[in-house]
Amino acid sequence: MNAFAQRMERAVAQAAAEGLGGLLITPGPDLVYFTGYQPTAITERLTLLVLAEGRDPHLLVPILERPDAEAADGSAAVTLLDWKDGDDPYPVAAGLLAPDGRYCISDSAWSMHLLGLQQALPQTRYTSMTSSLPMLRAVKSDDEVALLAAAGAAADAAYERILGVRFAGRTETEIGNDLADLLREYGHSQVDFTVVGSGPNGANPHHEMGDRVLQDGDMVVLDFGGLKDGYGSDTTRTVHIGPPTAVEQEVFDVVRAAQQAAFEAVRPGVACEDIDATARQLITEAGYGEQFIHRVGHGIGMTTHEPPYLVRGEKRPLVPGMCFSIEPGIYLSGRFGVRIEDIVTVTETGGRRLNNTDHGMQIVS
Ligand code: ZN
Ligand code: ZN
Ligand code: ZN
Repeated sequence: MNAFAQRMERAVAQAAAEGLGGLLITPGPDLVYFTGYQPTAITERLTLLVLAEGRDPHLLVPILERPDAEAADGSAAVTLLDWKDGDDPYPVAAGLLAPDGRYCISDSAWSMHLLGLQQALPQTRYTSMTSSLPMLRAVKSDDEVALLAAAGAAADAAYERILGVRFAGRTETEIGNDLADLLREYGHSQVDFTVVGSGPNGANPHHEMGDRVLQDGDMVVLDFGGLKDGYGSDTTRTVHIGPPTAVEQEVFDVVRAAQQAAFEAVRPGVACEDIDATARQLITEAGYGEQFIHRVGHGIGMTTHEPPYLVRGEKRPLVPGMCFSIEPGIYLSGRFGVRIEDIVTVTETGGRRLNNTDHGMQIVS
C-alpha cells in the first residue's frame, strides 16, 4: 500500500473513532496530503474527496480538471469520478455518502459546496475538521520530518547569510527582501512571511515590515519562512545593531532561557499546554509575563501554521512525529521586542530542533 492509501485508511479509522462516517476533503493542504493533488485554481466547481468507512476513496472532479487529477501522485489510490458543467455535482457527491451519516469536512471548503451537499442530503450532518480531527496531519512520518528538517536547514542558511548584510541605514523592507531572496536561493518555492521588526516595531508581533530606516542601537526581530518542497520553515532570531544596553541583554537572555526551557520540556505524553506554561513561568518570574502576549507555538507541516497549537487549554499530549514552533517573546511597547523561534520535532526521548543556528544575540552592522 502506498503512503497516500495508508494516510486515507488511517484517517477513516480516526474518523470512526470520533463517531464519524468519514471525511469530505476539498482543495487545500488536506487534499494534497491525501492525494498529492493540488488543482491549479480553487474554484466554484466542486472538487471533493470522499473518505468513508467500508468504501474505496472517491475523488469527484470537474471533467476539465480530470487530466490534472489523474496526473497527481496519489491518483492510483482513489477512484476518479467527474462531472460536467451544466450538471449538478451535489447529487453525484451525495451518492457517495450515507443519507443519515456524520462527516467532517475540510476547514477550507467553500460554504457554497457545503450548502449544496446539505441541500442534496438534508439528514446528513457535518462538522469541521478542526473541531473533529484537529490532529489529522499533526503526526509526521519520517519522510515528512526529513522535509521539514531540510526546510529548516535552508532557513538557517538564509539567516547565516543575512547576518553579513548591512542593516543600519536601510529600510525594513529592504532587509525583508534580502531574506526572501535568500530563502528562494536556498530552495524555497514560496516565501510566506519576512518579518523585520526594528526598534519599537519589534514590540508588535504582527508588524511585518515597513519604511522605517534601521539605525545603530536597534534591536531587530527577524521572523521568516515559507515552503520548500511542500513543507514549511518558520524561524525567528533577534539581532542587534551595535552593542546592546544592559536592559536589552537582560530581556534577550530571559527569552533565550524560556525557549531553552520549553524545548527541554518536550517529550512524548506531555500536554501541549505544558510547553507553553514552561516558557511562560520563566518569563513571568522575570517580571515580563504581561509582555508575552501570544501562545508559545504552533504546528507546521504542509502549511506554516496548523495544529497542534501549544497554548493554554490544549491538553492533548505530544506524540513522536509532531512538529511545531517554540517561540516565546517579550514585547516592550514603544521600545523593542525579542523573540526566538525554532521548529522542534518530538522524538521517543525528547525534542529535536530542526533549526540549529546560534541563539545568542548576534551583533550586526
Ligand atoms: Zn539597542
Ligand atoms: Zn515565525
Ligand atoms: Zn511561528
